[in-house]
Amino acid sequence: MRLRMPLSVLSAAGLSLTALGLGAAPAGAAEAPLAPADSYAAYAGSSEEAAANRAFFEAVLESVAEKRAADPTGAAAVTVVYNASQAPTFATQIARSAQIWNSSVSNVRLQSGTSGADFSYREGNDSRGSYASTDGHGRGYIFLDYAQNRTYDSTRVTAHETGHVLGLPDHYSGPCSELMSGGGPGPSCTNAYPNSAERSRVNQLWANGFAAALDQAEKALQKSGR
Ligand SMILES: [Zn+2]
Repeated sequence: MRLRMPLSVLSAAGLSLTALGLGAAPAGAAEAPLAPADSYAAYAGSSEEAAANRAFFEAVLESVAEKRAADPTGAAAVTVVYNASQAPTFATQIARSAQIWNSSVSNVRLQSGTSGADFSYREGNDSRGSYASTDGHGRGYIFLDYAQNRTYDSTRVTAHETGHVLGLPDHYSGPCSELMSGGGPGPSCTNAYPNSAERSRVNQLWANGFAAALDQAEKALQKSGR
């Protein structure tokens, strides 16, 4: 992950390089684009995927941190802005995913916007399926694959990928009632809502404002095996 903001901005936001996961990053690694975080249909996530999930989440947090630093008097609930203009085919599913998450959690809010977005959605054909990743310039994006969204419930795919935005790792072995089990339960699973454990996890992650979200996310994602 590239560090795009000056250190003074970081300290103004009460953040440290360690909290952002940058302190431990090996030299040079920050510049390299990571492999896609998530193939959605995979039955077991690799450590490479988990690392990319983490990089994606950090990119989102970094973007949010930048804006919070510029406006420290902002609301207690953190707003994460997404740009859906590059994924017009999935406009309905993206809006629905934001609605699902916004009605499921209280400490973080997803909001559509074309300027100053914290991450974006893209669409296209990719044999690896849908995934969350970073573009090598510290920007996070969710890629939605056409074929996969025809095979699997498209709203579930989109809501699952959006779960990575909020800091949740993959758990492919979980049941259909779990959103982050992704394609694990098979194409017949159409549940697009997070279960109570997933909702609590996201709320806890973002509970005490932004700095706490960073620390919690680091722990959670490390535990998931990056
Ligand atoms: Zn995933």
